[in-house]
Amino acid sequence: MPAKTNDPNKKTWLTVSENSDFPIQNIPFGVFLTRDDIITIGTRIGDYAIDLGALHQLGYFDGIPLTDDIFLQDTLNDFISDGKKTWRSVRNRISEIFDLKNGTLQNNKDHKKIVLFSMEEVEMKLPVQIGDYTDFYSSKEHATNVGSMFRDPENALLPNWLHLPVAYHGRSSTIVPNATPVRRPLGQTYPKGADAPVFGPSKLVDFELEMAFITTDANVLGEPIPIEEAEDYIFGLVLFNDWSARDIQKWEYVPLGPFLAKNFASSISPWIVTLDALEPFRVQSPKQDPEPLPYLRQQGKHSFDITLEVDLTPNNGIPTMVTRSNFKHMYWTMAQQMAHHTVNGCKVNSGDMMGSGTISGPSPDSYGSLLELAWQGTKPVKLRDGSERKFIEDNDIVTLRGYCQKEGIRIGFGEASTRLLPALEHKKK
Ligand code: CA
Repeated sequence: MPAKTNDPNKKTWLTVSENSDFPIQNIPFGVFLTRDDIITIGTRIGDYAIDLGALHQLGYFDGIPLTDDIFLQDTLNDFISDGKKTWRSVRNRISEIFDLKNGTLQNNKDHKKIVLFSMEEVEMKLPVQIGDYTDFYSSKEHATNVGSMFRDPENALLPNWLHLPVAYHGRSSTIVPNATPVRRPLGQTYPKGADAPVFGPSKLVDFELEMAFITTDANVLGEPIPIEEAEDYIFGLVLFNDWSARDIQKWEYVPLGPFLAKNFASSISPWIVTLDALEPFRVQSPKQDPEPLPYLRQQGKHSFDITLEVDLTPNNGIPTMVTRSNFKHMYWTMAQQMAHHTVNGCKVNSGDMMGSGTISGPSPDSYGSLLELAWQGTKPVKLRDGSERKFIEDNDIVTLRGYCQKEGIRIGFGEASTRLLPALEHKKK
């Protein structure tokens, strides 16, 4: 069954402001706590949160094979497990229910009272229980910038980089939704000029502008996912800020890669925007040279034109947009990442999350981290209040935004906005 939800002429009977990330063509999925303290799975149109559990109980999904409690859960994992056909049927039905021409719910005051909430009334939760989290390193510009800074501008990319999507296994226990504050981590560093490592709060906390995709159950142990099928197992995407402590990272990462510098927190936007909603925004990904090995080759358009922006807001201050990048700059596509991830038979489950890696564009104002924007502290970023940043300061708020826009339709992700709290007090030893 094809998705029928992308028609740009479709209008809804709900009020949606012109620049909303959530027109009736979006229909993302999330989990929220209602004003009555009930947790439910929902969607969003304009500034309305829509309780899918209530809609289902009232019979609005009749004819679609769904278990009774599929939306009365605190995670989307079971719904995602139902597969692409079910996601499409449900989105198509939601699109019908809220179509301007459909009076069924529109004219039922009692039902509307049960189903609709304003966004201010609900508290967004983590949308999935993330079993496994993998973070790729798939932006050529980012890998080149970091390689130039830390190693050698002449050989910025390591020999494997153009042949496979490099990644590491992260930690899912510290992934938090929008608006959950994050604490500056304590850790071990080896400052320049010191003759021994020291312990204390990280001095070089940074954001990483990324997106992440959420998967469904994709394969059995031992069986790879062919690249042509990989996108069928991608439920949708969120914005992803992979908080990083650069000083801890620099000292600890040899030889096995990032550890405590990356797993203290990562923030995501709470609404998962489906791959179907992003369909009109497909674009060609960058040309790959050398041509990858056959299991990573693909034809057609497999990237998406998603504008990405980051605001930095000092405590009680005004926001400054510090970068604007685009998801389409990614050298390796999500399908290539999935095909590579499973080529050895690694099993992918419903609710797994794969980070893209920092998404830097080609120009210095499109870099995806402060490390690059301020070029290791040598070119501090000027904020609108006159202050400067080399890295994130205590109580700064970092806000990621993302949206696609074409022919009058905007499909957005909302935001992943996070305050960095000061480090916990620690006793020097
Ligand atoms: Ca990362």
